[in-house]
Amino acid sequence: MYECPIIGVLGGGQLGRMLALAGLPLGLQFRFLEPTADCPAADVGQIIVAEYTDRDALARFAQGLTLVTYEFENIPAETLRWLHETTRAHTLPIFPSADILAIAQDRLLEKQLFRLRGIGTPDFASVTNLEELASAAATLGLPAVLKTRRMGYDGKGQAIIRVESDIAAAWQTVSAAAPGDRPELILESFVQFTRELSIISSRSTTGELHFYPLTQNTHREGVLRESIAPAPALTTELQQRAESIARGLLEHTRYVGVLAIELFELADGRLLANEMAPRVHNSGHWTQNGAEVSQFELHIRAIMGWPLVPQQHSDKPYTLVKSAMLNLLRTIPAHAQVLAIPGAHLHLYNKEPRAGQLRKVGHINITAPDDAALAHRLDLARTQLKHYL
Ligand code: AMP
Repeated sequence: MYECPIIGVLGGGQLGRMLALAGLPLGLQFRFLEPTADCPAADVGQIIVAEYTDRDALARFAQGLTLVTYEFENIPAETLRWLHETTRAHTLPIFPSADILAIAQDRLLEKQLFRLRGIGTPDFASVTNLEELASAAATLGLPAVLKTRRMGYDGKGQAIIRVESDIAAAWQTVSAAAPGDRPELILESFVQFTRELSIISSRSTTGELHFYPLTQNTHREGVLRESIAPAPALTTELQQRAESIARGLLEHTRYVGVLAIELFELADGRLLANEMAPRVHNSGHWTQNGAEVSQFELHIRAIMGWPLVPQQHSDKPYTLVKSAMLNLLRTIPAHAQVLAIPGAHLHLYNKEPRAGQLRKVGHINITAPDDAALAHRLDLARTQLKHYL
């Protein structure tokens, strides 16, 4: 009889929901550990409602699992180590590893790893008090961005320092947002990038690699609004440079799963790494409708040790269609309004919008046969759905 593998997912947000939606047709079951009962994954698997530090709940969660993965970055790395070592006679596989999660959770360690692998980053300095901030600002020059090392997302826990007189106020706001008693911050030089790109890549337990074409991303107020893939004017040379950045990290860390790397492209063509996410990523959502295998299925294939993509389209272009993704951040549009747009695919997360807040409640993928059709469809969507984006 077929014994259904059960995948344990730490976090029950929309990324977990979409992992399950991709894994269910492959005959997998999903169990989530998540602090909120009313979460996006609630209707696609079993939910254990508990804090990530609750050892009894973690032991129940681990029972009978084939392996564990996570969809949320701020899971204590300790939880992963405990699950891996304590819960069974045979260790429970956890992908990506606790060590890589611990690095990705800390902007300073992350940038140090990039530099170690020869990957360019914005200049940066560690900052733990106001004096260090003033001296780092003098060394790096202004403008600069002050960020918490840990727990920041969607531009939260950040401030731009444009002139010297901004320093004290930036210290006040960002140090107050930092977790723990002693503020640990990072100052980065402000990069005048021409555009933001990301590369979504994957390495399986067997060492097989896969890279999607570079995606171009637009953020406003620190939140991703729109992605286009393949990135406009993508050349083979640019793609290869991004792949070599990702390959270096995947192979050096013996990474397993999907890895997203956010990049700044400069006017002189250089790529600087901003940050990495050891998980499926918002800028990879277009792959649900624009690639042969979505990033969610790719992650599952990678952690299960299954072949990643049966036939690599090594002859460029990399995808059969052109894609865009628009995040729904306010209220939810009527289905008919979205689905009447040519090439539009609606993905909702089972999340309530919150008045006055930007909250990711869903996204729309748009596919088209060529660049001109994509531009036209995207314009149509931007205009008709402007109250939802
Ligand atoms: P992050 O949380 O680091 O991904 O930052 C959110 C957004 O802020 C990025 O997507 C960029 O648009 C912007 N940003 C972050 N760091 C820098 C930087 N060093 N220079 C310029 N813009 C930045």
